[in-house]
Amino acid sequence: MYEHIAEHIKSIRNELPGNVKLVAVSKFHPIEALMNAYEAGQRIFGESRAQEIQPKHMQMPADVEWHFIGHLQTNKVKQIIPYVSLIHSVDSEKLLEYVNKEAQKAGVIANVLLQLHVAKETTKFGLTDEECFSMIENGLLDSLANVRVYGVMGMATNTDDTAEIRKEFHTIRSVFDTLKTSCFSDKEYFKEVSMGMSEDYHIAIDEGSTMVRIGTSIFGAREY
Ligand SMILES: *Cc1c(COP(=O)(O)O)cnc(C)c1O
Repeated sequence: MYEHIAEHIKSIRNELPGNVKLVAVSKFHPIEALMNAYEAGQRIFGESRAQEIQPKHMQMPADVEWHFIGHLQTNKVKQIIPYVSLIHSVDSEKLLEYVNKEAQKAGVIANVLLQLHVAKETTKFGLTDEECFSMIENGLLDSLANVRVYGVMGMATNTDDTAEIRKEFHTIRSVFDTLKTSCFSDKEYFKEVSMGMSEDYHIAIDEGSTMVRIGTSIFGAREY
């Protein structure tokens, strides 16, 4: 049932430029599927439900890096902090403050990306570019000692209009570039642009993605 996973991983890897990391989005998939990917050399896995992180962390080898990619409720932050190496989906100032607070309690630095809202759908979470800039200009980031902002993340509109998708990824990359040359010019670690999923990762790479989050093209359709 899982025999194609290794093949999918290999063919996607062959398409990725050297500076682009592959996050295998394993939400809803069982450990057997993840192990097939692991055996093909995959080490970064993305999950979007807080309750899946800890059990999967327990069952998978210790050198797996867990990334949280879904909308994160403040009351779930504590549950994932010990296990995740990057949270892609910090979509509000309140959540950022919460992550800082829980990281402080746990005695760790939480690595995060700021999720930008660029898609046309109102259901997609994220910060507008104004919110992003004002948060930083207010000095908020400097006051949060237990979070480190590694870059930005975004999702394009779910559409067949590739010009629209390209435009949205272009916007995400430009917000990143502006942040990089203004607020983060002295922060070497601010270098990640997480964008691109199964349907649109080729366009995302063209537009300057450094991290693609791919589920369906690796593991097949999810059963909810
Ligand atoms: C599920 C999910 C993905 C992967 O989507 P596919 O279309 O299966 O590749 C990527 N990013 C986020 C935020 C997701 O929730």
